[in-house]
Amino acid sequence: MLVVHKYGGTSMGSVERIKSVAQRVAKWHRAGHRVVVVPSAMAGETNRLLGLAKEISAEADPRELDQIASTGEQVSVGLLAIALQALGVKAKSYTGWQAGIKTDSAFTKARITEIDGAKLLSDLDAGVIPIVTGFQGIDGAGNITTLGRGGSDTQAVAVAAAIKADECLIYTDVDAIYTTDPRVVEDARPLKVIAFEEMFELASLGSKVLQIRSVEFAGKYRVPTRVLSSFTDPLIPIEIEAKSGTLITFEEDEKMEQAVVSGIAFNRDEAKITLRGVPDMPGIAYKIVGPIGEANIDIDMIVQNIGESGHTDFSFTVHRNEFDRAMRVLNEQVKPALGAKEVVGDNRVCKVSIVGIGMRSHVGIAATMFKALADENINIQMITTSEIKTSVLVDDKYMELAVRALHRAFELDKEPAARAA
Ligand code: ADP
Ligand code: ASP
Ligand code: MG
Repeated sequence: MLVVHKYGGTSMGSVERIKSVAQRVAKWHRAGHRVVVVPSAMAGETNRLLGLAKEISAEADPRELDQIASTGEQVSVGLLAIALQALGVKAKSYTGWQAGIKTDSAFTKARITEIDGAKLLSDLDAGVIPIVTGFQGIDGAGNITTLGRGGSDTQAVAVAAAIKADECLIYTDVDAIYTTDPRVVEDARPLKVIAFEEMFELASLGSKVLQIRSVEFAGKYRVPTRVLSSFTDPLIPIEIEAKSGTLITFEEDEKMEQAVVSGIAFNRDEAKITLRGVPDMPGIAYKIVGPIGEANIDIDMIVQNIGESGHTDFSFTVHRNEFDRAMRVLNEQVKPALGAKEVVGDNRVCKVSIVGIGMRSHVGIAATMFKALADENINIQMITTSEIKTSVLVDDKYMELAVRALHRAFELDKEPAARAA
């Protein structure tokens, strides 16, 4: 098989862990498989590097942030190459630019535009294991770029697509994709398979197990992608390892669980802003949302209340990092232009979402969700729905309570066949 192995920060977190990764990779190599490895920086390293920059300036040049953050992965690939060589296996490390990973110039959140897989394939032909830094590439002007936090997942899947790998194996610190984050809900259940569409929604709604763009790549290029543990014995038989964890599938087949709700995601990165007492007339939404868009701030959820005596309230959410900037735009531009009464902000909210392709064909799911939250006395501040998900915005002090209550209400700890609904 031709495979890409991706190892996350915790999996690369110490010299001991790196030696264990080397043993696992060498095992695949010796069994005759062709392996390209994409490791992350050692756990905590990216935060440490970005922290240094922040100590100097809160508004550092994004180009320089990428220059700095990209070095975490550069250390990892070198160490892993040495660990493999120490086991008597040929290995060679590359940074993103050395491996020919081209991106656009959106520093700190660049998108991969092109990968030349030829060099990696020629290494493999020569019996050498290529090790490529996660999370980074080079733009048209030769600047180093990074793909955003968690971006090593995307690097790995993109490399897998470029070399037409049989599978991309994402090794991490949990042994599967679960019904929700197993660190929040103890009885979260591991899934054998998950539909691409569901994983895509979960990742976009905040589930950090895979970066959203890695799921996008997997879908676009139909890369079979598996999430599994790097904490098992590195020498376990490949037949067992290759079937472990969770596979993202593109077809609904008989292996799919027939669940209505498959998973729960949550996202603490939200902030809510309300503009009170705006005139209720055509064009208002545009006049509020327009300047926010011009400031390059993404809006997520939106609610406009029914007007009363010619006025209305308009609320929306933005990423918590953009909260201050969005408040400034509203206070300085929008409020005076519209003659609105006041701007109120709350950056202690979070979004909790239920996801499942079974929601397409079932009614009453939202009612079950709202009742479970009401029973815990959790106030819902906003709601958005689409065909396969329902999201609510709640006070972030209730986040874990909400996730647990919903996990229980939809009986996600049980196999779908054993659920009441
Ligand atoms: P890595 O460093 O390997 O990329 P991450 O921390 O980015 O690891 O992602 C793995 C983490 O994702 C797990 O430790 C777990 O806490 C979290 N997580 C969130 N949602 C889920 C889920 N549905 N299933 C499994 N893990 C999840
Ligand atoms: N090291 C980068 C980060 O911490 C990329 C990754 O681990 O996926 O975000
Ligand atoms: Mg990650």
